Amino acid sequence: MKGTVLGIEGTAWNLSVAVVNEKDVISEATDTYSPPSGGIHPREAAQHHAKYASAMIKKALEEAKEKGIKADDIDAISFSQGPGLGACLRTVATAARMLAITLDIPLVGVNHCLAHIEVGRWKTPADDPVTLYVSGANSQVLAYRMGRYRVFGETLDIGLGNAFDKFARSAGLSHPGGPKIEQLAKKSNNYIPMPYVVKGMDLSFSGLSTAATESLKKYPIEDVCYSLQENAFAMVVEVTERALAHTEKNEVLLAGGVGANARLREMLGIMCEDRGASFYVPEKRFMGDNGAMIAYLGLLMYEAGDTLSIEDSHVNPNFRPDDVNVTWRE
Ligand code: AMP
Ligand code: MG
Repeated sequence: MKGTVLGIEGTAWNLSVAVVNEKDVISEATDTYSPPSGGIHPREAAQHHAKYASAMIKKALEEAKEKGIKADDIDAISFSQGPGLGACLRTVATAARMLAITLDIPLVGVNHCLAHIEVGRWKTPADDPVTLYVSGANSQVLAYRMGRYRVFGETLDIGLGNAFDKFARSAGLSHPGGPKIEQLAKKSNNYIPMPYVVKGMDLSFSGLSTAATESLKKYPIEDVCYSLQENAFAMVVEVTERALAHTEKNEVLLAGGVGANARLREMLGIMCEDRGASFYVPEKRFMGDNGAMIAYLGLLMYEAGDTLSIEDSHVNPNFRPDDVNVTWRE
């Protein structure tokens, strides 16, 4: 791989632009939308991205220039084509198209979930892992098989992060709720039974979030946070373990913002050790949504000749990772 790609991420609350080549991340500029109250408001998040897109692109280009890489050296522009919030995706796609036209270089449409996996394969020793991807909106267990990343299990309703955030809001904690729940959970080890919903290989978190809110009427918040975490993490670890057994792979990769949680890492680590599998967690900057992962998968796709015409560059808020024909790996 000899190319250099500028990638733009903006599926939800993070707007992030990065320039990447095969060696490393050359530059990255990020601006995060934080709701004044409540959760993410899609239109406000999109307005945020529109407001900061040119500044972040400029910043990433300037930083790259300081390191000897000029705008002229960039071979392609990649962007998150989905899944994500429609208004946010459209804003970022517009910026990406404009840049590709201005610089007269190809455009690459990246599936956000697959970018999480590929940056993990790049930045950890993981080669062919089962990936647990747990973020605000997404919760999936994925693994590569015969030309596609297959979804072995996924949430049937909301993502694990959203379930945490929803509960946290009902408890009067500010967004994002995940880190606050983690801190409160450390103060308890009193488990209150919660709904454990694993259907086949799929998961459901919405009832769990509601049950946790209900429990606040009877139990201290520390106990509720502890039980919510134990329950939710046991569910995702169970599905990850079954995917490992089924695929006969021997590596697990953790991705997504919820992956910052130390208890989740501990539980996955124990499961992997019991099964003799290796467990990989990328550096924090590559776990949540970041421009580098979009630029990196953009680079892999560009090298594989997997580019888009402007006409075909519409976004897809429900873009499934298993819809992508993987052109960039054996
Ligand atoms: P992402 O969508 O990948 O940017 O991840 C954001 C989600 O991760 C939000 O729902 C957060 O509440 C959640 N999150 C972030 N840090 C933690 C943590 N330490 N424990 C649990 N959830 C977290
Ligand atoms: Mg994500």
